[in-house]
Amino acid sequence: MELYKENQLKIYNSLNKSKEDFKPITEGYVGMYVCGPTVYSNAHLGNVRTFMFFDVVYRYLLHLGYKVRYVRNITDAGHLENDADEGEDRIAKKARLEEIEPMEVVQRYTVDFHNVLKNYNFLPPSIEPTATGHIVEQIEMIKEIIEKGFAYEVNGSVYFDVLAYNKSNHYGILSGRKVEDLIHNTRALDGQSDKKNPQDFALWKKAEERHIMRWPSPWSDGFPGWHLECSVMSTKYLGESFDIHGGGMDLKFPHHECEIAQSQTCSGVKPVNYWMHTNMLLLNSQKMAKSTGNFILPNEILSGKNNILPKAFSASVVRFFNMQANYRSILDFSGEALEASEKGHAKLMEAITFLDKIEADKASTFDVKKWKKACYDAMNDDFNTPILISHLFEAVKVINQIKEHKAGLTNADLEEFKTTINVFVFDILGLMNEATQDSSEKINGVVELLIKLRKEARENKDWALSDQIRDELIELGIQLKDGKEGTTFSVN
Ligand code: AMP
Ligand code: ZN
Repeated sequence: MELYKENQLKIYNSLNKSKEDFKPITEGYVGMYVCGPTVYSNAHLGNVRTFMFFDVVYRYLLHLGYKVRYVRNITDAGHLENDADEGEDRIAKKARLEEIEPMEVVQRYTVDFHNVLKNYNFLPPSIEPTATGHIVEQIEMIKEIIEKGFAYEVNGSVYFDVLAYNKSNHYGILSGRKVEDLIHNTRALDGQSDKKNPQDFALWKKAEERHIMRWPSPWSDGFPGWHLECSVMSTKYLGESFDIHGGGMDLKFPHHECEIAQSQTCSGVKPVNYWMHTNMLLLNSQKMAKSTGNFILPNEILSGKNNILPKAFSASVVRFFNMQANYRSILDFSGEALEASEKGHAKLMEAITFLDKIEADKASTFDVKKWKKACYDAMNDDFNTPILISHLFEAVKVINQIKEHKAGLTNADLEEFKTTINVFVFDILGLMNEATQDSSEKINGVVELLIKLRKEARENKDWALSDQIRDELIELGIQLKDGKEGTTFSVN
């Protein structure tokens, strides 16, 4: 039986501001969309916090036996410098400043993003679509919104008419903002804008002469508004209504509010059942953000080349640090906090490394089933990773007691205990045991050394030593293979 049948997951739904039982639209299947990075610069650790949390959500859903289609886009066009549909496109600006093609900017930072994800042990999403790969579909969606009467064209640009939409729908349903307040609070149009009302947002922008990222459309040579791509790509790959939509809290308004308005206009149905928002990672008590220069890059943490931390930290320690906080709480990043996480992480991994050496006892002194249930309960409670980690430390305590012969587990309990720890630590939290990684690197080095010594023995016609090295390695389960390119080995 699939695990999801016995694990009722609860998700905090930002749309209703409450924890709700998770019921997918189609039993056994989950559609999840997460807003991806805008690839105009390196993703910082704050961005990684958000993506890492959804990586754990994805991992847990897969573990529960759901068939998950996880879509995380790449924003490679249309994201302007500010939310008021003004300023330059972020990617075009970077291209102008560096005198390179916008697609060179996109390529550089997409490659960097993927490199970070690989270093930090992320699972790849099922689909990673790009905004520029869906211009045709975006133009089609704009036409549909115009037909429905909720968008208007002015001088080659097209804007979503928030007031018209709000007459029969609820603009502000997600963010709680009221259209009347928006009217009051948005600064008056300065005459430069073509918008009828300041709260309207761009679906299509006519490109100025110098704007290099442009596509033909019925209205002008231009480019799509940022919010549109997510409506288009989520609908295309997950349908008009899908299960989970995620992103950082800072995207709730205007980005996600606008996504709802666009999608709802076209389909007439509620686009997303569960909205999930991660809280912000802070540095020096301020939101980590590229625009303010208050950030650290994930790879700078691994290399230790930065001005913030006293030394380098491993990717698994950073993952552990992130998972020690609830995703809906703010998280303060600092060298001290990372050092504390490093200690906890080492304790956990040390205990796990010892697990294989434990031998079964006649009786169990620890209720493995109850503990296992508590681990699932933590994750079922809106992915409460800090509580899960506290249960994992209970397991560490038990392992250490067993080490000192103060506790014991029967064979069946021991197997269940080991499997559960491995599942939660490695499959679900995505942590890595650097101790075993290090030792496998060391083993490779030792075998390479023996291959070299054997080669020297053969050159000296010392066949006895050469055979001894080969035969004793076979006994250890390591087989040497002599070939034209030299000797290789395999471990059985
Ligand atoms: P962007 O590339 O700016 O569109 O951001 C990518 C994702 O990172 C979005 O979901 C943002 O909400 C999220 N994000 C940005 N800054 C932070 C931060 N300091 N902490 C957590 N998430 C963040
Ligand atoms: Zn989005």
